[in-house]
Amino acid sequence: MNKQQNIIIIGAGLCGSLLALRLGQRGYLVTVYEKRPDLRKVNLDAGRSINLAFSNRGIKAMKLVGIDKKVEALCIPMHGRMLHDIQGNTMLAPYSGKDNEYINSISRSQLNALLLDEAEKHSNVTLYFNKTCKSVNFENTTAQFEDYNSKHLFVEDADVIFATDGAGSVLRKNYFLRKKFLFSFSQQYLTHGYKELSILPDDKGNFKTFKNALHIWGRESFMLIALPNLDGSFTVTLFLSFNEGTYNFNNLTSEDRVTEFFSIYFKDALELMPNVTKDFFKNPTSPLGTVKCSPWHYRGNTLLMGDAAHAIVPFYGQGMNASFEDVVEFDKVLETHPNPNSKSDWETIFKTYESTRKQDTDAIADLAIDNFHEMKDHVNHAIFREKRQIELALEKEFPRDYASKYRLVTFKEEIGYREAMLRGRAQDKAILKLISDKEITSSDDLNVILEKIKKETNAILEDDRIAALNQVI
Ligand SMILES: Cc1cc2nc3c(=O)[nH]c(=O)nc-3n(C[C@H](O)[C@H](O)[C@H](O)COP(=O)(O)OP(=O)(O)OC[C@H]3O[C@@H](n4cnc5c(N)ncnc54)[C@H](O)[C@@H]3O)c2cc1C
Repeated sequence: MNKQQNIIIIGAGLCGSLLALRLGQRGYLVTVYEKRPDLRKVNLDAGRSINLAFSNRGIKAMKLVGIDKKVEALCIPMHGRMLHDIQGNTMLAPYSGKDNEYINSISRSQLNALLLDEAEKHSNVTLYFNKTCKSVNFENTTAQFEDYNSKHLFVEDADVIFATDGAGSVLRKNYFLRKKFLFSFSQQYLTHGYKELSILPDDKGNFKTFKNALHIWGRESFMLIALPNLDGSFTVTLFLSFNEGTYNFNNLTSEDRVTEFFSIYFKDALELMPNVTKDFFKNPTSPLGTVKCSPWHYRGNTLLMGDAAHAIVPFYGQGMNASFEDVVEFDKVLETHPNPNSKSDWETIFKTYESTRKQDTDAIADLAIDNFHEMKDHVNHAIFREKRQIELALEKEFPRDYASKYRLVTFKEEIGYREAMLRGRAQDKAILKLISDKEITSSDDLNVILEKIKKETNAILEDDRIAALNQVI
């Protein structure tokens, strides 16, 4: 057995630190290089999504490495979406018809710190901070780094290099720029960007609004969301176009205009955020995009993982969960090839992993774009609310027989994103058609509704099969 293979991981974010922990548990010699300072020693929250929606696929990964109980202590359950209309009325729309199915709000830095602590417990895992990867020579399996403080440049080699360096991955850039093989790459920005704001705790340190929900103020072409933090605050994110509409990021340039915008569209939120203009001008506005590429690996030398391979927009709350699931799926392949000790062994592993995983990460990328429209707009339409009401009733009555698209993606971690997408989209079409044709209403007998939805969904799936729309690639 040759477990003493040297592995370099570039990037100690959420995916890289989990990967380091898992490969450390498997006995590899792992060295991690992270460009930023150690977040356990320096506060790095400013400007990045401070908290994240964490759900079953992420939990599955924490179970794999045996730290799910420790992670649970960092979580705030969110049982549904708290929808705020423009008049300030609220409605809690549960995420599932089953009480034990909910998502969680978790602090990015606390989770990352826990993963680093756990990885570092393994003597075969070494973490270096303030070391920026400048380039990767994927043919020689070497990487060049720069030390942030001394500006010293140095080159490290390894048997295998994993790049978990996020959406701006250096390895991915090198694949693209060096043109040594057929590397496909696409990056698509949304017209919308995001800015983080906050609802601070009240004088006693309590939450100012309902804690156990993901709050959404959907306003058709833009929206505001808020997720709770353990300290009684909420991290609020405004998703808004850069240059379209009456109010956009490019023209919200004065405190008066920001206050005017919030008082027209988010009056109840504004009452909770006296600090809004301060946050607005202090925090950056960032773009949102989808990155797809292939192949993720170069022979048996290098592999992209997490956002480096597939950055997605955040509207399904799945980017981190998918990146964690990457590690689970990679680990499954490693389990069937437990002792890789040659380039050709690693190449087989990388190919096998990518051949099954890519279709799922492509699917969640597309679903995340769909959900952008659903969250900001559809949730306010009567037909979508009726559909949701029917689906929740079905999930409650027939938890084994019915799962909405959201439930398939978020709570059915045993199936892949692609299967969830195909089944979920067909069901959505079926229900909307049945409601608009007045073939079902929320007051009908649930058994009858279920049968009609199943029949219509199967017919749509069959049509898609004939048109080759749901071929597994
Ligand atoms: C606004 C917003 C909200 C989101 N909300 C959610 C959510 O609710 N739920 C969810 O599941 N996902 C969410 N995501 C997605 C999630 O943040 C990412 O999918 C996740 O962080 C990916 O992890 P990663 O480790 O692959 O990349 P990252 O977290 O980006 O980590 C990459 C690491 O690599 C380091 N690095 C970068 N370049 C170099 C270099 N050259 N050399 C060395 N190190 C380097 C970085 O410093 C960083 O530590 C959200 C994203 C955004 C933008």
